[in-house]
Formats: sequence, structure tokens, C-alpha cells
Amino acid sequence: MAYPDKTRDTYKGILQGLRDAGIFKQERFIHSPQAADIEVEFPEGSSLRKVINMCANNYLGLSSHPEVVAAAHEGLKTRGYGMSSVRFICGTQDIHKELEARTTKFLGTEDTILFPSCMDANAGVFEAVLTKDDVMISDRLVHASLIDGIRLCGAMPDTFKHSDMAHLEQKLQMHQDRRLRLVITDGVFSMDGDTAKLDEMVALCEKYDAMLLVDDSHSTGFIGKTGRGTHEKYGVLGKIDIITTTFGKALGGATGGCVSGRKELVEMCRQKARPYLFSNTIAPVVVAGVLKVFDILTRSTELRDKLERNAAYWRKGLQEAGFVLKEGDTPIVPVMLFNAKLAQDFSRALYDEGIYAVGFFFPVVPQSQARIRTQLSAGHELHHLDRALAAFTKVGKKFEILGKTRQEIIDRYGM
Ligand SMILES: *Cc1c(COP(=O)(O)O)cnc(C)c1O
Repeated sequence: MAYPDKTRDTYKGILQGLRDAGIFKQERFIHSPQAADIEVEFPEGSSLRKVINMCANNYLGLSSHPEVVAAAHEGLKTRGYGMSSVRFICGTQDIHKELEARTTKFLGTEDTILFPSCMDANAGVFEAVLTKDDVMISDRLVHASLIDGIRLCGAMPDTFKHSDMAHLEQKLQMHQDRRLRLVITDGVFSMDGDTAKLDEMVALCEKYDAMLLVDDSHSTGFIGKTGRGTHEKYGVLGKIDIITTTFGKALGGATGGCVSGRKELVEMCRQKARPYLFSNTIAPVVVAGVLKVFDILTRSTELRDKLERNAAYWRKGLQEAGFVLKEGDTPIVPVMLFNAKLAQDFSRALYDEGIYAVGFFFPVVPQSQARIRTQLSAGHELHHLDRALAAFTKVGKKFEILGKTRQEIIDRYGM
């Protein structure tokens, strides 16, 4: 038998182990479009609940924006549904080239290549531009997809302590004998909401003859004065050699990613990156939607400005209520609970109060750093935030953690 009972039992045991450890992931079913107000079925089979979504990557509120939906309809009508081909055979339309050009202009780079997702961009880029004679030096907290891309590449991997510039400098000095050096970081780190010090990193890369790759998935569209990304915030537009980012978060939230940067590096990806060569790219309907997103973002900064105001209001409200937060100034605001079970119970209690915000715990974040990661959106109005603040405060009181320090919460609930 191809799948004997003994084999089945092996997997059942592993899955039960995850349940017993309290780290079994469960989906919640949303029965409405993605927005500030959603209708959720949880647990499976229960009746629908209207809740405020505080944990989507829908930073600019564009996921269900009427203009984006209309543009997608138009794209479907004029360019069809599927391409049934990879890019270099017969899977490239005029609008794919147009999206690459628009992305290049928006990010202030030299050229751009689309990928089915940013996960695929990160899986393909390292192997395409580096060889075994090179070194990849990454921040220790980079996104899982960068870690996978690094694993797929034959160049030597190394790391530096999170945002520790002295440690990065040591590593750059140590690897001067390599043919090429590539420093790798997230722009905004998704679990903590802090930003990479890109000005200092660019200076170090110039000093030690290294290239810099930034994954700006949690910033493209809203970080920086005009929303270009973390490089705009730090005044280093045009100085990042490779930016990878996603269309699956702020930029409409559907799907798709890209590598954008130096012409030659993008061309190397077009010749060699395997997810580009062997997998269909973004569907025409999505390309048409993202093109509309760029129209919206370049005609005014209204949405990213509103997001910034919402994030400041939310952070201040939680602080005044007495929660322990991670410092930062991005729309990612982690409410620290430290204990994994507390994070889950807190999330469940919030849900009962009509607020949707999931708990994060090991292995997604380090041990004893469990939290509720809240994320703001330009789709939130003040009444959403006020209702959510009231719910957080009520639940915070119930669990008696308001005004308590990290140590006091850990003493009470454990690590
Ligand atoms: C979400 C995310 C990705 C993956 O993006 P997809 O386009 O959904 O594959 C990659 N990198 C970072 C930093 C992310 O946050």
C-alpha cells in the first residue's frame, strides 16, 4: 500500500503534537471583501460575526477600493483571464511591461522584473546574481522568504545581529576577500514594526564595496513622505541596489511581487531566476488593478497621510490605556503579552468584543515574546479605532495587565 496506516499514524502524531503544544494554526473564514469591517466565521461552523479588522496588511485600504475593482474588471475584459504561459514563451502582455515601468518610476530604480509573488522574487534573486565566490550577509530577523532564497543560493551565507551596524561592519571587513558582498535586510520588520537604518547601511556598503538588498514588502506605498518606501524615509532613494517588494500588501493586496534595482541585476534575473522562468507571472486582471493603485498613489499622498495619522492615534491610545508596546513609528503596533496562551486568550476575548486581531507566538516570534500584532489601515475611520481601543481596554482590564510592566506580566502569566 502506498500510504500504510503506520505512515498515516506518523503524520497524525506530528499534527497532534502541534495541537498539544498550542501552536496548531487554524484559518478563520472571512465571508466579505477585505476591509476595515469584515464578517468572520470562527470557529468553523459558527454563525457569522461582524468585526473590525486590526491585522490585515491592507495598509492603504485599497484591497476593495472601487476604482481598483473597476480597473480589474476592465483588465479582465480587455486582456482576458489567464496567460497559460510563462513570460518568455508567450506570457508577456503590454500591461506587464507597463507595470514594470510604473514600478521602476515609483521606486526610483533603474529597472524592474515582475514575479508571481515576493516570496518567488526572494527565492529567485540570490541564485540569479551571486556565485559561490560571493557572500550574503543578512540581518538576523529577515523574513522567511529571504532565508529560503539564501538557502537556494550557492554563495556563502552569514548574518549580523538585528540592526547592529557595528556588527555588520565587522562582517563586511571579514569578507573583503570575496568576489562580491550582498547585504540583506527587510525595510520594515514585520513582527516588530521597526525600520532598517538604511542611511547607515548604504554608507557601510559604499565604504566596503558591497551591494544592498532591501525587502520593502511592509513599506512600499506608505513609508516615506510620498510612500516610496524605507529608502525614501532615510533619504537614500536611488542608492539601493536591489529592492524586492510585494503587490500583495499595501498595493491592492491581491498577489504578485518584483525585483527592482540596477539594470544589470534585473537583467540577470530575467535570464536566470527560476520562479520567473518556470512559473506564470501575475494574472492580467491583477496587473490592471495594480496599475490603478499606482494612479491613486501618484495623484495624492492622502491615503498614506491618513494611515500615518491613524497609526499615531492608535499608538497613543494604547499607550495611555497602559499597554506594553514595541517602540516604533510604522503602522505595525505590537501589543506585548509575552506568554503564548495569554496572547491566544486575549485574541479570543477581543474577538468576542468584535475586534479581529490574532495572537503571534513562537515560532513566529521568539520564545516569551508573544504578542497581538495590530496593523493600521487608511481604511480605518476614527470610530473604528475608538471602538477597538475601548475593546482592548476592556479586555486588558479583564486580564489585569493595564499599567503593568513586562516583568509583572511575566510574573503573573509566565514566559
Ligand atoms: C509578505 C512578505 C513577503 C511575501 O510576499 P508575497 O508577495 O505574498 O509572496 C516577502 N517578504 C516580506 C518581508 C513580507 O512581509
